[in-house]
Amino acid sequence: MANTTKGQIGVTTENIFPVIKQFLYSDHEIFLRELVANAVDASQKLKALASAGAFKGETGELKVEIELDEKEKTLKIKDSGIGMTADEVDRYINQIAFSSAGEFLEKYKDQTNIIGHFGLGFYSAFMVARKVTIDTLSWQEGAEPVRWSCDGSPEFSMETGDKSARGTEITLFLDDESAEEFGSKGKIRSLLDKYCKFMPVPVVFGKKTEWKDGKSVETEEDEVVNSIVPVWTKAPSELKDEDYLEFYRALYPMEEDPMFWIHLNVDYPFKLTGVLYFPKIKERMSIDRNKIQLYCNQMFVTDHVDNIVPDFLTLLHGIIDSPDIPLNVSRSYLQSDANVKKISTYITKKVADRLEAIFNEQREQYEEKWDNIKLFIEYGMLSDEKFRERAMEFALLKNTEGKYFRIEDYRKAIEGSQTDKDKKTVFLYATDTDAQYASIEAAKNMGYDVLLMDCELDSHFVNMLEQKLNDCRFARVDSDTADKLVPKEDAEAPQMSDEEKKSLEELFKSVLPTGNEYMVEPVNLGENAAPVVLTQSEFMRRWREMSAMGGGMNFYGSMPESFEVKVNMQNPVIAKILADRENTGELLRQTVDLALLGKGMLKGKALAEFIARSEKLLG
Ligand code: ADP
Repeated sequence: MANTTKGQIGVTTENIFPVIKQFLYSDHEIFLRELVANAVDASQKLKALASAGAFKGETGELKVEIELDEKEKTLKIKDSGIGMTADEVDRYINQIAFSSAGEFLEKYKDQTNIIGHFGLGFYSAFMVARKVTIDTLSWQEGAEPVRWSCDGSPEFSMETGDKSARGTEITLFLDDESAEEFGSKGKIRSLLDKYCKFMPVPVVFGKKTEWKDGKSVETEEDEVVNSIVPVWTKAPSELKDEDYLEFYRALYPMEEDPMFWIHLNVDYPFKLTGVLYFPKIKERMSIDRNKIQLYCNQMFVTDHVDNIVPDFLTLLHGIIDSPDIPLNVSRSYLQSDANVKKISTYITKKVADRLEAIFNEQREQYEEKWDNIKLFIEYGMLSDEKFRERAMEFALLKNTEGKYFRIEDYRKAIEGSQTDKDKKTVFLYATDTDAQYASIEAAKNMGYDVLLMDCELDSHFVNMLEQKLNDCRFARVDSDTADKLVPKEDAEAPQMSDEEKKSLEELFKSVLPTGNEYMVEPVNLGENAAPVVLTQSEFMRRWREMSAMGGGMNFYGSMPESFEVKVNMQNPVIAKILADRENTGELLRQTVDLALLGKGMLKGKALAEFIARSEKLLG
């Protein structure tokens, strides 16, 4: 090229640059991502040519360098990739790029809500620069260097350049406003961190610094922006737990370690990779929802993934990388996009698979972590029908004693004693173990189990379960007196003569520890409820406690403790004891001791004896 070529850029829209500027106003900063991405592409292409044998020279160290001259207000993006011939500049920059920009703008003129702005590529540079030059030398043998320059009007100039090394150097002459915004090292560094942290070719911005003689000085070593290995691009088999954790810490330096993670990897019918982490979630209030980052081939796009993943999954952290998510469309369009729907379904399924696997294979750890993932799972079950179906298998219920149950298992466990006269199984629950202590105790004394539902979503969750589980209902433990919580037709007192009652009383008193007062009362609690239940009046218990605190010298404090001993006439053990009083003394003692044990009243010698007897019984 002997002479300077001047020409009109092939755009239909006469004044394209003002349009670009205005159109992309809110997102000017992506220019840097676009230019670095092009430089990365050019480097990757050279690598590909080299490994295919088409390029026989030295590739050298392929890296992308960013240089900011704060004084001159220029920003350079340099690569040693494939470069461009004059022909290619003409084709890719003058013709194709600009004409596709025209189309792009035409197409999306009326959409204000565009994410990513993909396809804008190179000339997003004009959002921040009054003038842009390209200096490039193609990898091809005998190629001549090219200098292209454009000052923002649709006119460009192209001439022979002086670049002697292979690759491309783009120089932006920042306009005044942009120089203000982007003209500092700190700002460029933060943009590179945001957009280029995981690009597949080293991105270098300046030199590493060290402290020498009390000040920071530059070393010879490159400061590489993207030194962290993006774990999601590797095969799960190559990775150890520590790799995932290290990656997490690099992404979220302020966060506690995650509980577990899911490696996503799918090729068909769409391409998607990524790693999703489960953070410790205790309260919904404290959740930052913008912790999933969306990438496109290792290039950061956005951290707003709503409409791409189901709402409850936005509670997770991590990265999703997919070239198949349409990016230059409006958000409302995203939701109805078939690919996005498939992606969303896939991720939900993967999350459910992983949780189920942990539940099945590491039940103990799963239970340990339950309190921290409960909110997430409940939210998922409430908001996503598919997830709910799956999670019914691995969602847990926790009772007031800190034991965990699968929903179905729990139902089976309580069915016997907690099914009411309408054949509905009653799930009893407390929302505050302190405030509802008495009710919980009373329910337990009836032989019932009480769940703990103290999470902020639990009232909704209870509603949902009640609707989904057939023949079940939920009742808060203090919603009625204990005996009425699970009303049973046959709950009336057993038919017994006074004489029979007296003899029952004598029988039980004979094995109860001395020093207390007992009221023996025959009751019907159902055949699956405990044979003997000890209760103590709330009133009495409190008075005694208060008196003890006050010195114990008043009337209530000095009274013997009194207990109600409820003998469940429907329990087969009681029937057995009564049927053969002579020979079932051992069983009687064991049954009563068991009830005492449940109340924490079996101590010292009596406890030792109980254990010895139990061991003997077990053989
Ligand atoms: P896109 O990257 O989406 O194709 P661009 O406008 O960013 O659109 O770039 C147009 C073309 O110009 C690229 O496809 C590439 O062929 C060429 N190009 C841009 N930057 C470089 C570069 N640094 N090195 C080599 N070729 C480049």
